[in-house]
Amino acid sequence: MEHCNDDDLSIIALGEPASPADEAHLQQCPRCQSRLDQLSAVVSTARQIDAKDGLMTPPPAVWDAIADELDMQPGVTSLNSRRRPRSGWLLAAAAAAVGVAIGSVATIGVTSTGETSPAVLAEVGLEPVGDQAVSGAARIERVGATTTLSVEVPGLPAVDDGYYEVWMATADAGTMVAVGTLDADGTGSITLPGGMDVAEFPLVDVSIEHFDGDAGHSADSVVRGLLAT
Ligand SMILES: [Zn+2]
Repeated sequence: MEHCNDDDLSIIALGEPASPADEAHLQQCPRCQSRLDQLSAVVSTARQIDAKDGLMTPPPAVWDAIADELDMQPGVTSLNSRRRPRSGWLLAAAAAAVGVAIGSVATIGVTSTGETSPAVLAEVGLEPVGDQAVSGAARIERVGATTTLSVEVPGLPAVDDGYYEVWMATADAGTMVAVGTLDADGTGSITLPGGMDVAEFPLVDVSIEHFDGDAGHSADSVVRGLLAT
């Protein structure tokens, strides 16, 4: 019986419809069905790559295993050399699928950030809390995968035995996350933890904290503002 050729199987794995002949053959040939399953697995893995997946150089053992699987090791038999171009084509197809995924990630990165100039995601004025006499501003910016919170509160009085801590909190201030501190001049440029959803923690709060070993919020807030995200 005539098996489906690997080129056709690769194209089917990439999502093209099978020809009626291939389709009929696949119904009744476990060998070709299993080959198609393997290729589909490669394509689906490649398509799951997203912005969180950095590129890395595979350890040599991985390449050895791939070369092994595709009969690409040196000293191939005549049968293997005959199969080589085909295997090369398969790798090219897999690489193309990966390229598509990485290409779209790169496009998203470039279009959303303009690459060099940071994209301002949100800005808000920080209003005094209680009888505090200072106010300021906060801004969320993104460059590539990095989200930064910039805070400016000019004229903050020096704190005895303490410092100013910046928090991001849920809108009701029920959950507060300490993200960084302000410098002596009342400014801070704080890299937010990767994966932190700013929309979930839109409340920016600056509090006076003391060197007391208590990591929780002092309840002594100076300024506060709700980001519109
Ligand atoms: Zn077959």
